[in-house]
Amino acid sequence: MRPIESAALLVRSVPSGESDVIATFFTEAEGILSAVVRGARRSTKRFGGALEPIHELAIVVEDRGKELCSLREARIGRVRLGIVANLAALEVAGKALRWVRHACSPRTPERDVWDSLRALLDALDLRDELVRPTAHLAAFGFELLQEVGYGMDLRACLRCGKECPPGRSAFLDTSASGGGLVCMRCGGARRTIRAEVRMLAVRAQERAPSAPMTPAQASELVQIVEEAMNAHADFDPHARK
Ligand SMILES: [Zn+2]
Repeated sequence: MRPIESAALLVRSVPSGESDVIATFFTEAEGILSAVVRGARRSTKRFGGALEPIHELAIVVEDRGKELCSLREARIGRVRLGIVANLAALEVAGKALRWVRHACSPRTPERDVWDSLRALLDALDLRDELVRPTAHLAAFGFELLQEVGYGMDLRACLRCGKECPPGRSAFLDTSASGGGLVCMRCGGARRTIRAEVRMLAVRAQERAPSAPMTPAQASELVQIVEEAMNAHADFDPHARK
C-alpha cells in the first residue's frame, strides 16, 4: 500500500452504498484520482467538512494499485471564499472543474493543467469587480485544450495548411480530430469565427497575457471550447454533472 499525498481539488462526489462516497479529485501529483470515503455520509466529523469543491485541499489517499484509492486524510489547504461569495465566479469555477474532469485521464499527472486551473481559481477568488469570470473561463478553456492535446489549429487550414491572414474571419471545425480552421477550398465548416475572436483564441492558446474581451466574445469562445470538449472528451455541455 502506497500513500499518495497531494494538493487536490474535488471534481465530483457520488454516494456509494449506505454510508460511503466516491470522491474524484484532480490532484497536483497524479492527475485524476478517485477514492472511497468510508462513512462520509454517516458523519462529517472525520474530514471536518473538507470535502468541498472550489477550495484547495490537502489529501492523503491509500493506493492499493486498484482503480479506487481510499481517502485517509483531507483538510482545506487554501480557502477560496471570494468564489463562494460570487455566483458568477462559482458557476465558472464549477464549469472549469467539470472540463478538467472530462479532459484529463485517471492517474496521469497534468502539471500544466494544474497550474492553469489554480491560476484561474486564484483570479476568480479576487474580490475585484473588474474580474470578468467568463473571459477568464474562455482563456482557460483554450489553454486546457492545448495542454491535453486537443489544441486547434487557429492560424492555418488544418487540411491543406494554407495560412489564414490575421484580420480575416474563417471557418472553424471543432469536431475534426485536432480541430481548427478549414479554408473555403477545402470545403469550409459550419461555424465561422470572426477575426478578432480568432485572435483572442490564439492568444489564450499560446498563453499570451489575455486581451480584454467583450461578454459576447467571451461566451462565443466558451461555446467553441465546449464543442471541442464534446468532440474529444465525450462531454455534454447541457448535462448538469
Ligand atoms: Zn484548406
